[in-house]
Amino acid sequence: MSRSPLPVIPSGATFAAASARVADAEESFVPNAGEPNQRVLIKGGAILSMDDAVGNHAVGDVLIEGSRIVGVGPSIDAPDAAVIDATGMIVMPGFIDTHHHQFETALRSHLAHGILIADGQPVNESNYYDVILQKFSLVYRPEDVYVNELFGSISQLDAGVTTVMDVSQIHHSPAHSDAAIDALRDAGRRAVFGYFEGWGDDARYPGDARRIREESFSSDDQLLTMTVGGEIYLPGYEEAWKVGRELGLPIALHVVGTFGMRDTFDELAAAGQFGSDNIFIHMTGMSDEAWQKAADAGAHLSLAVHIEMHMRHGMPPIQKALDLGMGVSLSSDVECTMAADPFTQMRSLITLQRMHVNEQALAGAEEYPALMQCSDALRHATIEGAKGLGLDHKTGSLTPGKDADIVLLDAGAVNVAPLNNAAGAVVTLMDRSNVDTVLVAGEIKKWRGHLLGFDLNGLADELEASRDYVFEAAGVERNLYG
Ligand SMILES: [Zn+2]
Repeated sequence: MSRSPLPVIPSGATFAAASARVADAEESFVPNAGEPNQRVLIKGGAILSMDDAVGNHAVGDVLIEGSRIVGVGPSIDAPDAAVIDATGMIVMPGFIDTHHHQFETALRSHLAHGILIADGQPVNESNYYDVILQKFSLVYRPEDVYVNELFGSISQLDAGVTTVMDVSQIHHSPAHSDAAIDALRDAGRRAVFGYFEGWGDDARYPGDARRIREESFSSDDQLLTMTVGGEIYLPGYEEAWKVGRELGLPIALHVVGTFGMRDTFDELAAAGQFGSDNIFIHMTGMSDEAWQKAADAGAHLSLAVHIEMHMRHGMPPIQKALDLGMGVSLSSDVECTMAADPFTQMRSLITLQRMHVNEQALAGAEEYPALMQCSDALRHATIEGAKGLGLDHKTGSLTPGKDADIVLLDAGAVNVAPLNNAAGAVVTLMDRSNVDTVLVAGEIKKWRGHLLGFDLNGLADELEASRDYVFEAAGVERNLYG
């Protein structure tokens, strides 16, 4: 509210007209950020750098040159730079979601009450495994994959999520895989393409990873990278692990006790198969021995706390992972059941961790774990995710030399003002309406509350058509009041 809506325009700087969809004419000019050599100064915000060496600054500047951050400090003199006024804003690295099934965007809230697998109760007949994986995912065409992935990506850009690992379990043909990659690329966001399973005669998983890697991921100088899915509840997972390691790619997998994975996970642990290239998702219901091996190997843990609580994955093992010193990141998982914004994830994480600790304190325990702080929750939602995805040399903090993946969050908004605690404001008060401006590798994707560069109405129509098709093909009826 206290901020100026317009960037200060220095003489000589170049500006590009924003999308015509930006309704507010007085906000319709954005700095030409991201162009080679273009310097942009984000000026006067409250900096949460997520880098101890850089520190935080109550009033500070971030200087960008082209795609990279070149300076962070209390006051940077850069008269040649275009200026983005960040007065009244919190300036921090973009959020990182390490596990999101974006192909399910058209199924949003269809499984609002769904648990993971059937339990014999009629009320849970419509569950995730039987309906989403065994019905919906099988009928996706490449065009469904494309629009679902793209729309899900754009929605997360709107929420300030600048990096995702997309877990797409629809690789029914090479064309399906290519459609997912095209959509991730067209979103213009940093994304890790998770090459997971597919079904049917045309499926080429996991061997097609070699072609995909060569055709789409041979360069490190791009926003897209790749992981291989190595689901241990599927027959033949050993081949997927082998291909992933042959290609030097991280291996990601769901680890859920209720899916009967505990014995296999124990066997892999005992055989010394865990490595720092493993991204384990959920890790509910596993043995202490396997946990120790995972921690010793430097494996990463992706938690989707809200989903784990809601869908009966088992108790989110937050404290276990923290006690073992494992890297823990946050993830949205499935929008068929809950929202994919980082604020939901952080609040689920911090409230559950503190609930457990508070219960111990109330029960009279003399010693109990430290209560999670808001700065911890932010770390799990940013730099820890970057480390887990092997991208911390590029993103996850406001560090000179890293790519400029940056969000400006409006701390003057009606649900946040006045600003008294920066990390607290983000974690305990904010939602996606506070995400004012989003940059990915220096390029502005959201400007003063408006997404740039997408035909949202047209895409929404395409998504709805895809929704109608997949429900019809899967033989599932929508129930608006279910
Ligand atoms: Zn998942």
